[in-house]
Amino acid sequence: MADFEIPQLKEYPVIPKIHEGVMAHSKPFVAKQEFQGALGFPGELVDNWQQVAIDKMGELNGKYRSLQVFLDSCVKCGACTDKCHYYLGTSDPKNMPVARQDLYRKVYRRYYTFAGKYFPKLVGATDLTKEVLDDWYSYFHQCSQCRRCSVFCPYGIDTAEISMAAREVMDAVGIGQKYCNEIIGKVYKIGNNLGLPEPALADTLEGLEEDIEDDTGVAVKLPLDQKGAEVLLVTPSADFFAEPHVDGLMGYAKVFHEAGISWTLSSYASEAANFGMFIGSYENMRKLSLRVREAALELGVKRIIFGECGHAWRVAYSFLNTLAGPFDFLDPKYPVPQHILEFTHDLIQRGGITLDKSANDDMVLTFHDSCNIARASRMGSKPGGQFTIPREVIKASCNHFYDMPQDTIHDATYCCGGGGGLLTDDLMELRVKGALPRMEALKFVVENYGVTHMAAICAICKSQFTKVLPYYGFGMDSIVSVHQLVSNAIVMGNKQ
Ligand code: SF4
Ligand code: SF4
Repeated sequence: MADFEIPQLKEYPVIPKIHEGVMAHSKPFVAKQEFQGALGFPGELVDNWQQVAIDKMGELNGKYRSLQVFLDSCVKCGACTDKCHYYLGTSDPKNMPVARQDLYRKVYRRYYTFAGKYFPKLVGATDLTKEVLDDWYSYFHQCSQCRRCSVFCPYGIDTAEISMAAREVMDAVGIGQKYCNEIIGKVYKIGNNLGLPEPALADTLEGLEEDIEDDTGVAVKLPLDQKGAEVLLVTPSADFFAEPHVDGLMGYAKVFHEAGISWTLSSYASEAANFGMFIGSYENMRKLSLRVREAALELGVKRIIFGECGHAWRVAYSFLNTLAGPFDFLDPKYPVPQHILEFTHDLIQRGGITLDKSANDDMVLTFHDSCNIARASRMGSKPGGQFTIPREVIKASCNHFYDMPQDTIHDATYCCGGGGGLLTDDLMELRVKGALPRMEALKFVVENYGVTHMAAICAICKSQFTKVLPYYGFGMDSIVSVHQLVSNAIVMGNKQ
């Protein structure tokens, strides 16, 4: 059982009274030398760390204009204070977005503004001390970079960008986060977050082919490294084995099969996740993205489609062309890249696949909008497609669907509590407490509409919910993949 207090689910969300410092102890494990070195960061806190950190902050000011605008423009209006799930779940005032920003802002002011240099006390500017650095390590790892606060800020200040900058500065002085940095190193070495080598991946895919054939009687292929395939599917490695992710992967395979489109996975680019974004490192984000380009060229595909993963879709949709483009060797008829939901949605619209909704009649569904998809990307050709397309695919696959309360969905969606590189067991207290607002919204539809399952389109959300749902009295298997619903409903054998 948990060695921390699990928040009570209330009937209506309540903004908690503040409890200073209650989460100061929450810190992820620091990355060891071996994990830092692989990413080009110092292995431990460097001797002249203050100067290195201040110089890095200056470099980031010059590189990212948005960062400096965000640091200069907050008017302390307070509109963001009750918008962060980590504040609502923990009551620690440093988890209010404006207070989190101020941890960075007060150091920025001290070294990069006239008033902060000469009248620091007047403008709340502070020296960068070890105590301040410790606070950064704790509270910038209590931000899932979900961007909910920015939706409510009249100036659009994006705390996520400030937390990425802070993590980048910390990596530069040698105190990186173990979970993220170890994972990025695994992708460089083996190709995916899990460290699953090519033979094990091939075996896994063969096993899934057998499962689908046993279940449907249809021989559906999950090809690996197949040169000349039309589509390269890049999907989070959790799709290869974790529940309910793997049911989604089987769904993609069935859709490709029924659509009659050749496709392949790549053992070299066997990971859609790009944790370079979480640590704010452009260089690492680019290096990871280039693997997708190299795999597409090597395999000679015409299209690239991404599987269900939130931040991976943000990186793909918003940055892939800049990081790893141009993709002029792909078929210009299709967007680069495409999301698997855009692909399936289009087939449904055109009658390219047949779905029997009654196959999901044992479930009453709701949908969790993932932050990075909702607030940092889009789908389809119309504004808001990232909200409508997943819901239309779900509704085409099942008979019973109810949305959670309006202020908890679409661009006001609450983070699952495990995004932004925080999906690690050393942050379990934070993850459980940060899930509170989503759990309260889920409770509402469970009690009012008899909802039994929540669908999601992000590998991190699915893993996080599997872990935290039981803390709030829900079953761990009440989280499902959207393509799991498609997989259940798709009528196989219609292929010409
Ligand atoms: S980006 Fe999300 S997690 Fe970070 S402060 Fe804002 S609401 Fe909280
Ligand atoms: S809503 Fe924006 S301007 Fe207002 S306190 Fe928060 S960050 Fe500052």
